[in-house]
Amino acid sequence: MKKVALFPGSFDPLTNGHLETIRRAAKLFDEVIIAVLTNTSKVSLFTADEKKVLIEAALKEIPNANVIAHTGGLTVDLAKELGAVAMIRGMRNTSDFDYEYSIASMNKLQTAEIETVILLADEQYRFLSSSLIKEVAQFGGDVSSLVPAVVHDAIVKKYQEKNQ
Ligand code: ADP
Repeated sequence: MKKVALFPGSFDPLTNGHLETIRRAAKLFDEVIIAVLTNTSKVSLFTADEKKVLIEAALKEIPNANVIAHTGGLTVDLAKELGAVAMIRGMRNTSDFDYEYSIASMNKLQTAEIETVILLADEQYRFLSSSLIKEVAQFGGDVSSLVPAVVHDAIVKKYQEKNQ
């Protein structure tokens, strides 16, 4: 049976840290579906559709990874709908541990059959977050080595539009 994993997140925007996690997950599973979730407690820079287009472009080198945008509902229900056996998350530090542990425990309570698989962040991207990218990029800082090229172009354009 084909083993599908769901990687849910905000991805506002996708960073090289996310991409490295996807690359590694794609080696463990037959298919990885990245779900761009609309997080109601966070204000987004990019719309869900914009994020989806950017992720699609960045995933060209990973043929068994695909992306969808999803709004509303439980993530575990989405995972079940897609026939996923696992949910992928990344962990950079102890703050992530506490957060990810809570989410994974709650998800387990909702749906015991879906496992959360947590991949430790690549050493070089342990400090990297979408928020940090935005904090630096909005003031013209160089983040080109930390996000895929398409994402970099989109961030520069977005802040140019915002600052006009
Ligand atoms: P969310 O709002 O759901 O936390 P994010 O886009 O911030 O969405 O993160 C999605 C997942 O990717 C989370 O599990 C997060 O810990 C992980 N992640 C974020 N940045 C990195 C990184 N630099 N390296 C590895 N994993 C990361």
